[in-house]
Amino acid sequence: MITNKTPLRPLIPRLEKVLPDTRRDHTRVDEVVFKNQMAYCVCRYPLGMSGGQIQDEDISASSQWSESTAARYGRLNFEEGDGAWCPEITVEPDNLKEFLQIDLRSLHFITLVGTQGRHAGGIGNEFAQMYKIKYSRDGSRWISWRNRQGKQVIEGNRNAYDIVLKDLEPPVVARFVRFMPVTDHSMNVCMRVELYGCEWLDGLVSYNAPAGQQMNIPEHVVYLNDSVYDGAIIYSMTEGLGQLTDGVCGLDDFTESHVYNVWPGYDYVGWSNQSFPGGYVEIMFEFDRIRNFTTMMVHCNNMFTYNVKAFQHVVCYFRSESDWEATPLAFSPSVDDEDPSARFVPVPLANHMASAIKCQFYFADVWLLFSEITFQSDTAMYNTTLTPPKDDPTHKVDDSTTRILIGCLVAIIFILVAIIVIILWRQVWQKMLQKVSGMANEIQMTESILSTQSETFAYSHNQSSGGTSEQESSSTYERIFPLGPDYQEPSRLICKLPEFAQNSEEPGICSGLTVAQDGVPHYAEADIVALQGVTGSNMYAIPALAMDLLSGKDMAVEEFPRKLLTFKEKLGEGQFGEVHLCEAEGIQEFMNKEFLFDVPEEATVLVAVKMLRSDASKNARNDFLKEIKIMSRLKDPNIVRLLAVCIYSDPLCMITEYMENGDLNQFLSRHEPEGQLALLSNAATVSFGNLCYMAAQIASGMKYLSSLNFVHRDLATRNCLVGKNFTIKIADFGMSRNLYSGDYYRIQGRAVLPIRWMSWESILLGKFTTASDMWAFAVTLWEILNFCKEQPYSQLTDEQVIENTGEFFRDQKRQIYLPQPVLCPDSLYKVMLDCWRRNAKERPSFQEIHRVLLQIQP
Ligand code: AMP
Repeated sequence: MITNKTPLRPLIPRLEKVLPDTRRDHTRVDEVVFKNQMAYCVCRYPLGMSGGQIQDEDISASSQWSESTAARYGRLNFEEGDGAWCPEITVEPDNLKEFLQIDLRSLHFITLVGTQGRHAGGIGNEFAQMYKIKYSRDGSRWISWRNRQGKQVIEGNRNAYDIVLKDLEPPVVARFVRFMPVTDHSMNVCMRVELYGCEWLDGLVSYNAPAGQQMNIPEHVVYLNDSVYDGAIIYSMTEGLGQLTDGVCGLDDFTESHVYNVWPGYDYVGWSNQSFPGGYVEIMFEFDRIRNFTTMMVHCNNMFTYNVKAFQHVVCYFRSESDWEATPLAFSPSVDDEDPSARFVPVPLANHMASAIKCQFYFADVWLLFSEITFQSDTAMYNTTLTPPKDDPTHKVDDSTTRILIGCLVAIIFILVAIIVIILWRQVWQKMLQKVSGMANEIQMTESILSTQSETFAYSHNQSSGGTSEQESSSTYERIFPLGPDYQEPSRLICKLPEFAQNSEEPGICSGLTVAQDGVPHYAEADIVALQGVTGSNMYAIPALAMDLLSGKDMAVEEFPRKLLTFKEKLGEGQFGEVHLCEAEGIQEFMNKEFLFDVPEEATVLVAVKMLRSDASKNARNDFLKEIKIMSRLKDPNIVRLLAVCIYSDPLCMITEYMENGDLNQFLSRHEPEGQLALLSNAATVSFGNLCYMAAQIASGMKYLSSLNFVHRDLATRNCLVGKNFTIKIADFGMSRNLYSGDYYRIQGRAVLPIRWMSWESILLGKFTTASDMWAFAVTLWEILNFCKEQPYSQLTDEQVIENTGEFFRDQKRQIYLPQPVLCPDSLYKVMLDCWRRNAKERPSFQEIHRVLLQIQP
């Protein structure tokens, strides 16, 4: 059938089988009698699963494995949620209960379907090897799709990522479509899908006709039945669509089998006048609503040598409401006894308004053979160009429809305005609340930090560690980072990875699923106490040991008068804002005596001043103050020292010791390994021994941190500072947290993570431990030995890094390790590989690493 189907805008032009967005003009049936195959060919536009035009609420399913694999995640090419729709239970071969359903909201001509499995950045591996399609036009009568040979099962995917497109031969006209995974053995199946086609603007919902017959001619038996009719067929065909609307025209010689390689006469539905004493075949067409009909096009065979001719006369009746119009419309095309080619016979319908048309086609010879019937109707024309006769009863119908439409539009506008007002009001209200609570938090936090000698934190045994840690978790991940290339926002990573689900015990991750504990250190919950955080609203779960550290009397920092700072130059910029080199006059007086040993005695000391940017969010401000709190209590030669703070007024500042050579990444990037090349280019060099010396200092600083059960979480060369004579100090505690609270961290929402430095369990499970710091240390060591000339896994995209993380988890020898740097001896590379072991317990400790690195030094 040829239709004036309006193509939707294509959204995945790169799929070859899908049409590119070039055809915007809509071919009109009465303007061009085009081959109807063309209609079929052009009607291949994605209908909105991948492009988002299909709303979440229009995608449903028989069941879902979890919230994150709900039906709405079954969109082709989408990686949202856990990467696909997955039914609740394993799909069994004899149980076809599971389905993913799409409601297209209106009838569509669907010519192509696409399926894909669940890949989820490399950690998903479920797909449907086979599936069936069911469709419905009204939501109640469901029809199983069959191909032209009667087969229902469609071959699906062979892996979790490739999109497999399948032509629907025959195409279907439907509003609702169900994809039903089929398996030959019990297996987990997940699907992402797309439908391709275009809107079915004809509005033809069904045709009823006498069943097609069989023609016996000397060489052949020609079956002229409607083999793809999707309604009921007994003596006549009722309530279905079929070959007369499948978009395929029959050949001139109907005895030849068509392209589908089926039986002769396949493309035609035919009747013999011997079975119709009235001399005509009656076909009734039902439409979705009242339409204004201009033309009916009937594709007829005209092989008069076989006694087949197009109809000689047609009489059509119209029904707009319940009754048939008394006066039919009659039309007699010219009978053609000369040209045997098949043709479209146009029947003018004279702008009749109807929701059903009944036409009697009169035989011109023994046989009538039709392959397509299409209607041109145009409701839009009714309102614009064609004015119906004033006494036309259908005028009223349309008029009232217009009034209802206008009423609906006005109502929608009112609702929208109301929603906008509510949103604006809420925003203003929230801003006010934020201001108030921000002030309160600030005051509390500032007081807390300044309560120098007598500072004690109220703490009590953790009665609700889960709840408190959730707060901590979200506050951490919602913080604002100026995204550098080293930090990524991975798509939701903690997925319903079946392998995890099977082994897991820890609740909370993966929407109620649990997580493999294997390889990740366990920490006794009894050690954990809840600390009322300085913000007043944040609660951290931290161990008693760290409590001592944090509440130690002589560890706090003092406020330094801002006016005694003289700006010298900008040193760099980090997550919180700019870092300036300043002269600090008389800072010794404001420093804790314990910290004085390292600071020059001159009156004016060079210091680094890290300032919080003025537009920082409340979370960033709290994190900045948290970093101060953490740093104020760390005392180690390889940890950068906080000397004083300026937090009485904005901008908040932390004053740290100045490291002359900046961060290690920049420092090494400016240097070359010792050797001929460096000699020739006159480049500054660093010896292998000094590289090991610097690495050993990082290991030493980390040894100190791990002894306090602190997890840095962001160890990398960019976060280590270089002083004189290759001294190294670890800095940037913006992401660091106590080890125990790390137990509760989840990668949720918009996490921003240095994935190339992170262990598999940190990425997949949100686990940050000393062992994951060890993983990052080995990556840092790798950077050092490469003189920071290359980013880790530089040849992999972020998605591939995450895929590789899945391989580390699966541990089937498919994971890619960072390669051995040229400068790296085998023994040291072996140590690095030990740091990247899947089982965290098997990774070395910082004591061991420190010892190894000291031994390597020349
Ligand atoms: P941060 O905000 O800590 O990431 O610092 C941003 C950049 O400022 C670093 O990459 C360093 O180049 C520089 N920087 C930070 N702290 C110091 C310091 N104490 N001494 C010298 N340079 C620093």
